Amino acid sequence: AEMPADPSEINIPRQVEKAFFSYVEPKKPSNPSLIHASEDVADLLGMSHEDILSEDFLNIFSGNSLYPETRPYALAYAGHQFGNWAGQLGDGRAINLTEIIHNNKSYTLQLKGAGPTPYSRTADGFAVLRSSIREYLCAEAMHYLGVPTTRSLSLVLSGDQVLRDILYNGNPAYEKGAVVCRVAPSFIRFGSFELFASRNDRVNLKLLADFTIKYHFPDIKSEGAEKYLAFFKEVTQTTLKMIVHWQRVGFVHGVMNTDNMSIHGLTIDYGPYGWLEDYDPNWTPNTTDRQNKRYRFGNQPNVALWNLYQLANALFPIINDAKPLEEILKAFSSDYEAEYLNMMRNKLGFKISKDQDTALIESLTELLQLAETDMTIFFRNLGTILKTDSDEIAFEKIKEAFYKNLEESVLDNWKTWLRHYSSRISEETLTDDERKEQMNSVNPKYVLRNYMAQLCIDDADKGDYSLLNELFELLKKPYDEQHDSQKWFAKRPDWARDKVGCSM
Ligand code: AMP
Ligand code: MG
Ligand code: MG
Repeated sequence: AEMPADPSEINIPRQVEKAFFSYVEPKKPSNPSLIHASEDVADLLGMSHEDILSEDFLNIFSGNSLYPETRPYALAYAGHQFGNWAGQLGDGRAINLTEIIHNNKSYTLQLKGAGPTPYSRTADGFAVLRSSIREYLCAEAMHYLGVPTTRSLSLVLSGDQVLRDILYNGNPAYEKGAVVCRVAPSFIRFGSFELFASRNDRVNLKLLADFTIKYHFPDIKSEGAEKYLAFFKEVTQTTLKMIVHWQRVGFVHGVMNTDNMSIHGLTIDYGPYGWLEDYDPNWTPNTTDRQNKRYRFGNQPNVALWNLYQLANALFPIINDAKPLEEILKAFSSDYEAEYLNMMRNKLGFKISKDQDTALIESLTELLQLAETDMTIFFRNLGTILKTDSDEIAFEKIKEAFYKNLEESVLDNWKTWLRHYSSRISEETLTDDERKEQMNSVNPKYVLRNYMAQLCIDDADKGDYSLLNELFELLKKPYDEQHDSQKWFAKRPDWARDKVGCSM
């Protein structure tokens, strides 16, 4: 741990040379109020409905007071950002409050936006309501979609104003400040290991690996290099699974820097993320990445592998043998192909595997890009097609997914594909109803479309949280037919075209 010589400087940004973390204190908010809390996450932690409504809850999760006998800290880490070595980074606006063990599981509770830390560099350590809502809602939506993710416990308004932008006329634009409490087994990242590797600090690199494995990967029983290899292999596998889920639901992370990669294979750091509306593998929600599009939808598996190479490099000094690391990395691409194919078969309702499936899936993903097609609506409606449907009838069922009228030739391509699809599902033993049910369990009806988050943010900014509540409840059951929520099973309205949130 690191402490400044003068305790009053505990939260002041500075260069931290040798430590892995620094003790910090959250900034006391001037007028905190609870906007929302997740009852399910509270329950995981052993907190009741009454606890959520208590003054203690508000005080602790706004950063107003500390839970007795705890000592908050910010972690140092390093990382590669946009493919370049970025050196030392750290929790610039995240403060780990404490750990809770409940029902034999351990959780780290972390405030995001509760003020500066030694790692804030030139930024302020705060978060605005807009980005906090986006993180809070999306993490929970992802969880209910079955995607591994950090969780959100609470969303609190700090009562303070945060400066984010200077307007074109030179006036400062203040926004409401907010604090999210997020929860994960730990917030250790690929970049945590890169920190020690970059300092050539093999002793602490080993300590971190040993600690991580002992507390978070207790099933690993081997010793020495074997132990670290087993750890790396597990991180590779959980990361791969996470990416397959992202591709399944159309989630684009937007900032897959190595400091945003959890060693638990959890989706972490909801910054400029977005959801595919029209199926476009080249789309990225990150406006600072529109040139290279490194973090575009279709590149997420490649970037995950690239990031795993960085983790492998970081772990190398305690393994000392490149060969087994390379083997694990080499297996990633073929394993990914297999898992991806499996996932797509499920989305299409195929229980048995046929050789022609790869071609059928490839032609589908090409077709989906010929005209703007809503990914969520397309896959959901595909489940309503019957084995006996003609291509005309089948097309009627999916046509709602198209943003514009199709050209004649594209329409013909679709009808051809749908004929192949019909004959393919006719080879299945599942009945139409069974297939639909199976498909509905992997093809969500509701995702947090970018404009939905925006509408909710606009209302919340005016102090109206009813839409936030509504979306939170809606997204808890993303696979259910919620007939009174048909309005959220709809294409993005035209005004919201390319409307994306911002991370800061
Ligand atoms: P991100 O791109 O969100 O992963 O952030 C990259 C780095 O910048 C991390 O070390 C963050 O902690 C830090 N950071 C981002 N926003 C802020 C902020 N408002 N105040 C302090 N640090 C920040
Ligand atoms: Mg980050
Ligand atoms: Mg961020």
